[in-house]
Amino acid sequence: MRQCENCNRKFGFGQIFKSLWLAYKPIVCPQCNAVYEHTMKNRILTALSVALGTIIGGLYWALSETDDENKILMLIISDVVLTLLFSSLSIYFFGFKRKHVEKAST
Ligand SMILES: [Zn+2]
Repeated sequence: MRQCENCNRKFGFGQIFKSLWLAYKPIVCPQCNAVYEHTMKNRILTALSVALGTIIGGLYWALSETDDENKILMLIISDVVLTLLFSSLSIYFFGFKRKHVEKAST
């Protein structure tokens, strides 16, 4: 898992996961307040997770024999579960870029 470049504090899985689903909100180190932004790689990995979840969920839906009104609900649930699963895995490959705070010059 990633850690802070400044103070070496490790970022928790939950912290990264939450920041991801808050539209790539930058991660702030709770110890030294260093700010880390998501890299483009993270966005690509997330897009792939969503695509994979949708495709596999859709395949399951297409191959499923049941044909009642629960089927569309099953599609939504499986898409969400798979997307969350794949994005959880992709977090292990995430990279972060430290944001350098510009000193105010007066
Ligand atoms: Zn830190």
